[in-house]
Amino acid sequence: MGLFKPYRFLSSVDKVDLEQLAADGFDCILLDMDNTVLPRDTEVVPDAVIEWIARAKEMGFKMSFVSNNWHGYVFDRAAKLGLPIVHKAMKPFPLAYHIAKRRLGCKRKATVSIGDQLMTDVFGSRLAGIKPILVLPQATKDLPHTLFLRKIERLILKDAKPTR
Ligand SMILES: [Mg+2]
Repeated sequence: MGLFKPYRFLSSVDKVDLEQLAADGFDCILLDMDNTVLPRDTEVVPDAVIEWIARAKEMGFKMSFVSNNWHGYVFDRAAKLGLPIVHKAMKPFPLAYHIAKRRLGCKRKATVSIGDQLMTDVFGSRLAGIKPILVLPQATKDLPHTLFLRKIERLILKDAKPTR
């Protein structure tokens, strides 16, 4: 089984087709925060992403952030978007995914994760038995160790391109 294989690969979170997810039996979304929802350069959540989150909620998706970020400010950011958060997640360890899923009352098979990193989001999600959607990082700015991991990501992803 491909622990580094994304279930879907898209250019950004708002490109995730919510109708398709619902049709495929998913009702729960676990979101990475940094460079997935919140670009690390502007620190402003794009309108398209705000609208996408609002629509997902309207459609009845249960959602939570699962973030490796350990700063207290992530609670404010999550609250502004009206979502709960499990922070200090230590992805790729799968525990935080299980915690978030249990808090929301979600079933593993009805849950997807969305994140921008292969080594943490995709790998961790696969270890938790949750299908991972990979998106492109929403800014080139990132933490030094993340920029290093991205070089390895490119080796694994080869020339894979987002499908939309
Ligand atoms: Mg991220």
